[in-house]
Amino acid sequence: MSEYLNRNNGSRLSGPESVSVVVPCYNESGNIQSLCERTLAILKTITDKYEIILVNDGSSDSTLDTMILMSESEKNIEFISFSRNFGHEAASTAGLEASTGEVTVLIDADLQDPPELIRDMIEKWKEGNDIVYAVRKSREGESIYKKLTSHAFYKVINSLSKPPLPVDTGDYRLIDRKALDAFKKCREVCRFVRGLSTWVGFKQTGILYDREKRHKGKSKYNYIKLSVLAIEAISSFSLAPLRFSLILGGIGIVFALLLAIVIILQKLFIGNPVQGYVLLMLTVLFMGSMNILLLGFVAEYVGKIFLETQKRPLYIVEKTSKSSLIQDK
Ligand code: UDP
Ligand code: MG
Repeated sequence: MSEYLNRNNGSRLSGPESVSVVVPCYNESGNIQSLCERTLAILKTITDKYEIILVNDGSSDSTLDTMILMSESEKNIEFISFSRNFGHEAASTAGLEASTGEVTVLIDADLQDPPELIRDMIEKWKEGNDIVYAVRKSREGESIYKKLTSHAFYKVINSLSKPPLPVDTGDYRLIDRKALDAFKKCREVCRFVRGLSTWVGFKQTGILYDREKRHKGKSKYNYIKLSVLAIEAISSFSLAPLRFSLILGGIGIVFALLLAIVIILQKLFIGNPVQGYVLLMLTVLFMGSMNILLLGFVAEYVGKIFLETQKRPLYIVEKTSKSSLIQDK
């Protein structure tokens, strides 16, 4: 690895010796070719040593066939194909683990993230940054609702977990070899790749870009999947919901005791009969739903412990152009 650091300001004096680009793909047959063409055009201007690693996450369309064709026609294109759909985070992880570049760029397949930005990322890397993430200045073709909920998600997770996640970022980022080696040590099954990439630390910075419309096909994330990802992310990086249960339970007990005292005093000194079932029903309903909610928080963590103790592999590779990978797995 050639990392010529200028000791005065930490900047790198030359570009990276090699670059890997990792692309998780799930039913992206309409996008892979354009993505590879645009990405190759950029990579060729940066270095002679580059690779694009396409990860097929159990697609049901012709994604794998396209990948095989692409890798046969271009020696710098590799593919990894899973035995089934293991999810976006597993696909990103597989590609990151297989990458060999001095720097690795993680990018979505649908061209929402323009590959041309890789050049700017490399400039930031040369300035001495180890992770350069892309921050969405604008988001073409996404509803106001999606933008607002996504923004709210970052606000919530940042108020709960440390270190804070940069707001309005996705997975599109450049990761230096040493940061990637640190990332590879995180072996949890329940993973949130962009959170882990922030968690590893090192020198990180963002660059602004305009997120484009999806080139072809449909988003794989509906609101339910996005909500699950948000819960997964928050519970992976914070114990705050568990502590929240404690605090809320405490407040509930104090409130109940105060209410009991007020009712007893009213009965003793004013002679008021204890009034009606409305208060009773409200209390029962409130406490019942709180119990279920808090049990849900706990269940989320217990479920995670269960999944982690199974120690299953994060993904299963069925076919790959990287023969070393088959031997590893
Ligand atoms: N993806 C994947 N496995 C999945 C779902 C998505 O590898 O189970 C990939 C998908 O092909 C794309 C990236 O993850 O390259 C982001 O997905 P998408 O564009 O659907 O998400 P959005 O941009 O709408 O949030
Ligand atoms: Mg997308």
